[in-house]
Amino acid sequence: MDYLSAMHCSVDDIQNNHNKGEVMRNKKEALLRKGVMGLSVICASLVLVGTAPAQAKGPVAAPAANVEAKQGALTEARINAVLKEAYEKFKNDQGGKNADYIKALAEVDSKIFGITLVTPNGKVYEIGDTKAEVSIQSISKVFTAAKVIQEKGEKFMQEKIGVNATGLPFNSIIAIELHGGSASNPFVNAGAIQSTSWVEAKDSKERWAKIKQNMDAFAGKKLGFNEKVYHSEVNDNKRNQAIAKLLDAYGRMGSDPLEATTVYTRQCSVNITSHDLGVMGATFANHGVNPVTGKRVIDSQYVPKILAIMATAGLYDNAGDWLYLTGTPAKSGVGGGILAIVPGKLGIGVVSPPLDKYGNSVRGQKAAAYIIDKLGLNPLAQ
Ligand code: GLN
Repeated sequence: MDYLSAMHCSVDDIQNNHNKGEVMRNKKEALLRKGVMGLSVICASLVLVGTAPAQAKGPVAAPAANVEAKQGALTEARINAVLKEAYEKFKNDQGGKNADYIKALAEVDSKIFGITLVTPNGKVYEIGDTKAEVSIQSISKVFTAAKVIQEKGEKFMQEKIGVNATGLPFNSIIAIELHGGSASNPFVNAGAIQSTSWVEAKDSKERWAKIKQNMDAFAGKKLGFNEKVYHSEVNDNKRNQAIAKLLDAYGRMGSDPLEATTVYTRQCSVNITSHDLGVMGATFANHGVNPVTGKRVIDSQYVPKILAIMATAGLYDNAGDWLYLTGTPAKSGVGGGILAIVPGKLGIGVVSPPLDKYGNSVRGQKAAAYIIDKLGLNPLAQ
């Protein structure tokens, strides 16, 4: 796949990419500052999409004129209509290709396409294969990062792991060297394996149990485990082991690097549906309280921090384009899942296995971007 062959480009290419990454990062950070400011406005002024669905006659709040025009009335009927439009529009999109560097992922049905929207009060809108399970892969990184920031605080996350984009592929080794031995952020493989290693536990068994329980708490149910994907990846994850060993050499790992890589591979093999992703996203949109179970799973003070990293690095070296297009924090996984969050308003989960060259679901991005645009939900436009 392109995102792997990108590793074999010349040093000049890498430096160019890196410089490009710097520029993008600056732009992204500027956008992000606006986004964070916008967040408080959103929270303070908007009636949530799901709080007054069917009865709402006019716009749910008093947004700026251009947003108002696009947003119209966020009624249940309108949300369902846009959802259906998105599904019909992209259902037959043949773009992208299943990941194949993890052999079991190549065998997953490429036709699976499910979209789920969940509001902070637990109202669900969904269409398509919303019960089809795929492995969560990199989306799991969000929840392990959430656990680490909860246990160790935001300073630790920023200083020990990092919160900047790399501008390089998610499994880049060169990125670690270019950034002085730092993983850069918890959503590339390096920072994710590092995060896993820092979850407080007496051994790797307890570490895995805590990580899984935390993901279950975000989903509001006991998520399944994909043995086939796990065995496929665990026997073929030497590159991730190398990443973990390199970080260990820089003194950045919290536990044994190979054990942490195995636990990380486990967390990537948890099964999710678009419905699960929608609920997990809505838990962030609901400031850390799962709208289905009513249980708090992360302190509200850390929610904007995790969303900020998602905005900066959730879609890897395509994160800038995604933020430019939608203004939303999002996270993808090579299993074909994508999670986008409209802060304070909506969790969006899409599952569709074929990926683009960055390792992001093609239909997932298209469908989520379409819905965000048509419903006038870009947080940076509020
Ligand atoms: N388990 C995958 C890996 O380590 C996760 C990558 C992804 O989803 N981007 O390569």
